[in-house]
This record gives sequence, structure tokens and C-alpha cells, in this order.
Amino acid sequence: MSVSNGETYNDSNIFARILRGEIPARMVFQNEFAFAFHDINPQAPVHVLVIPKGPYVSLADFSVHAPDDLVVGFWRAVGDVARLLGLEEGGYRILTNAGQDAHQEVPHMHVHIFAGKALGPMLSRG
Ligand code: 5GP
Repeated sequence: MSVSNGETYNDSNIFARILRGEIPARMVFQNEFAFAFHDINPQAPVHVLVIPKGPYVSLADFSVHAPDDLVVGFWRAVGDVARLLGLEEGGYRILTNAGQDAHQEVPHMHVHIFAGKALGPMLSRG
């Protein structure tokens, strides 16, 4: 079990259930390191989530506890997904929320990929 900032990985979270095939997801890519699927509530014309195949709460956890091959394989997969979706010409943004101040909702490490329109400033104001 992985632990980060006092939070223990709970394998009943929704992304763990997607990884186990217990609930459906619109998959776009998978390999031995990562699984990518469309966000259920897209915030841009393209909004894909990429998750590592391992029990990590957030990047805080993943960066400390994941083995090197998974870290490399996962981040390479993020770039592969963007390329496979044809996002490189127009551009895309990646984002990962870690913990409370970032408003992380699902406690399984994930990277958002946003694309398909001009995405505006990096953070909303106000
Ligand atoms: P967070 O705030 O944790 O970074 O983002 C979690 C993301 O997961 C949100 O964008 C939310 O729409 C997405 N999400 C939550 N539940 C599900 C689900 O059951 N299926 C899919 N595909 N996305 C989900």
C-alpha cells in the first residue's frame, strides 16, 4: 500500500475500479504502465485522463514510491496519448491535481490532457 501525506491508497476509488474493469470508461490508450480514457465531464473539446497502473494516490505519492520503469513509462505514455490523438499541431495542456488545495477529487494519480480550443490563461482568476 502506498502512503502520501498521511493518505493511504484506497483501492475502492473510481479510477481503481475503472482499471479493474468494474465500471466502463471510453478508453483511448493503454500499455503496461498507463491507461487513458475520456473524462466523464469534459472541460475542453478534448479532455482525457491518463492514470498509472499502480496504487498511487497522487503525484506526491507516485514520485516517491513508484519504480523508475513505471515513472518513465507513465510520463512517456502521456506524450504518446497526446500524439496518438493528433494534438501536437494545435497544442495541448497537461495538469495534475495533488491534494486539497489543488481540489483533487479522485485519489488515484492522474494527469488531465486538455485540447481542442484556445485554452486561455493557465489559472482562472479570482
Ligand atoms: P481531479 O479533480 O481529481 O483532478 O479530477 C477528477 C476527474 O475525474 C474529473 O475531471 C472528473 O470529471 C473525472 N471523473 C470522475 N469520475 C469519473 C468517472 O467515473 N469516469 C470518468 N471517465 N471520469 C470521471
